[in-house]
Amino acid sequence: MAHERCEQCGNQTPRWDTIHCGSGDGRYELLCTPCFNARIAASSGLTDFENARLDPIRMIDCYGESHQFHFQLRLLGDRLAVDAFELRGELRAGYRFQLIGEADDDVFVLLGRLVEKMRRALSVRHIDFRERRIIDSTVRGHIEWDKSQAGRLPLVVVDGTEVSWNELGQMLMSVEGWQFRLDIADPSEEL
Ligand SMILES: [Zn+2]
Repeated sequence: MAHERCEQCGNQTPRWDTIHCGSGDGRYELLCTPCFNARIAASSGLTDFENARLDPIRMIDCYGESHQFHFQLRLLGDRLAVDAFELRGELRAGYRFQLIGEADDDVFVLLGRLVEKMRRALSVRHIDFRERRIIDSTVRGHIEWDKSQAGRLPLVVVDGTEVSWNELGQMLMSVEGWQFRLDIADPSEEL
């Protein structure tokens, strides 16, 4: 697996656990997550911030399929973001979740809330991938970059599975003439 070298501590770090950090002089540095947090803590005066190491967990969805989630904890000034995501090789792929708390919140309380949110999401399926159809009348997911479309069309991830814009369009044709509503929400909101 390709690793990147953190420009602060020199450790070889998997790509998903690094952050491109802009410095004041317009330069970008690649930092591992703990070094990134240490830098933000120092610049925000959060002297008692502790980098918690969150081990991956495995969760089972409502179809009995297993998903392994990795976590990243990022200090963003006075807020703390906890991200949970699946990996394909070194890259994030599949389900992803985020929870935003305060910098001084207990990390394990935030993690507990995030896991509850993940559990709720994994208990619902929106698409029958065998029949290529929308199961009920709601589809939830997130929007990603489709490499084959060079930014012209999105790729959506529904039930942790990539669905091209074209495929989603085909699924909608079974409800031709019906109404729809498109709601867009911040990654940390729950739809
Ligand atoms: Zn580092």
